[in-house]
Amino acid sequence: MKTAVVTGGNKGIGREIVRQLKQEGFHVVLAARDEKRGSTAAAEEGAEFIRMDVADEKSILEFAKQFGKKFNHLDVLVNNAGILKKEDRSVLASSQELMNETFAVNAYGPVRVTKALLPFLGNGSRVIMVSSGGGSMSDDIAGWAPVYCVSKTLLNAFTRHLAHELAPKGIFVNAICPGWVRTDMGGKGAPRTVQQGADTVTWLATTDKVHSGGIFRDRKKIDW
Ligand code: NAP
Repeated sequence: MKTAVVTGGNKGIGREIVRQLKQEGFHVVLAARDEKRGSTAAAEEGAEFIRMDVADEKSILEFAKQFGKKFNHLDVLVNNAGILKKEDRSVLASSQELMNETFAVNAYGPVRVTKALLPFLGNGSRVIMVSSGGGSMSDDIAGWAPVYCVSKTLLNAFTRHLAHELAPKGIFVNAICPGWVRTDMGGKGAPRTVQQGADTVTWLATTDKVHSGGIFRDRKKIDW
């Protein structure tokens, strides 16, 4: 059975990714920072729970240790966990703390998690970063949540370099944009469902037409 790990899997798009990968026959490890929220969600989805705070190096290493007690291989790693702070409205007005926290979760987290789980990734494994169109360097700047947007630009850049570094091992690394999705982060006014938001992740996790080093929305490659 193929194995998948989904970070921030207790709610929103991450939880739907857990659900869809389960439907595709994966054994899914739902990673979440909160023990109660994570274990409850995992039990409801028929997934396995292992705690992980993606902003905490010790927690990431402990996750890898616990994962290694049960599995020797990881087919799909979905770096989904993310934050968007409500006070994130201007680069100039943002505190250093806001920047550090946002970058730690959204950009450094996925890199640290990928690094910690590298011993389990091998030929054909896939790493999928849940990024955002907000990180685009080719679209016009929309002006919302600039620190969040820059953290996703950084994540996109890490994705390209990781794809290059991991190509010799046959590991594919891509990013996706889920579109604007109705979740706690996206808000009630967002036009898309979590099913639509998670779809491109599930497609990248399962398609035979494997790509690496790209960013995708609605199963199509888009500009960075
Ligand atoms: P959400 O409903 O707010 O869920 C975010 C998830 O990330 C939660 O499970 C949260 O856990 C987890 N998380 C936050 N900080 C974490 C940490 N330090 N360690 C581990 N988990 C952590 O948001 P969402 O809309 O599903 O977002 C999922 C991903 O999609 C994010 O990367 C987001 O940037 C991206 N995205 C969303 C949209 C949108 O419109 N919704 C658009 C573009 C991209 P807690 O429950 O413990 O807080």
